[in-house]
Amino acid sequence: MRTPMIAGNWKLHKTCNEAVELVEALKAAVADINDVEIVVAPVFTALTSVAASIEGSSITLAAQNCYPQESGAFTGEVSPSLLKDAGCRYVIIGHSERRQLCGENDEFINQKAHALAAAGLGTIFCIGETLEERESDQMYDVLRRQVRLGLKGLDTTAMASVVVAYEPVWAIGTGKTATDEQAQEVHAFLRALLKELYDEKVAAATRILYGGSVKPDNVDSLMAQPDVDGALVGGASLKAEDFARIINFE
Ligand code: PEP
Repeated sequence: MRTPMIAGNWKLHKTCNEAVELVEALKAAVADINDVEIVVAPVFTALTSVAASIEGSSITLAAQNCYPQESGAFTGEVSPSLLKDAGCRYVIIGHSERRQLCGENDEFINQKAHALAAAGLGTIFCIGETLEERESDQMYDVLRRQVRLGLKGLDTTAMASVVVAYEPVWAIGTGKTATDEQAQEVHAFLRALLKELYDEKVAAATRILYGGSVKPDNVDSLMAQPDVDGALVGGASLKAEDFARIINFE
């Protein structure tokens, strides 16, 4: 069985104090939940403050990015082991904002995936097509390429720490969610692809999250889809009440 994961990507929001305030409110709201893996991903500067706040709770910490080197002359970068030292259990890689705004390609994302596996950190590996790619029938080719190149060289052991997040670019921050059917169709495709690239066991065990304008009012039917194992949530994770409702999906 795949334990559902609901992960909040706080993007470039919240000071240290605001991040602690948010996670404290969330902690109180989800204290009774033990069948969902709850993850929050604050900005780098708030990681250690949030780590201290969630100690002993069921909330786990993720970073929004990493650099695929352990140490050295890489000004401005942060390595997987430093993130682990700061209390992170997961790191998000491949987010479409980093692909589009920072020019990250599949090869660079793959280096990050290997660096995270080497550091013993979990990976939330994001993929997704643009509207243009979907409308011109390139969606499955794009997703196949992103998975094949992004996970290249990761063995089945490393895959046990990988969570895939399907985030159609046209649905991120737009208020336009994929329909339940669209999400299920792509998630089923991704699970079949994992079976082709790895084996039945990896395909059955890997969690595939949906991301893109997930809100309290659409989470229930998305989570009812057989291949949707959780959600990666941006905007709605910035309000404790909304995020708690999403975590409490029915
Ligand atoms: C995201 O940034 O990963 C995301 C899904 O954002 P939103 O929920 O705001 O669409």
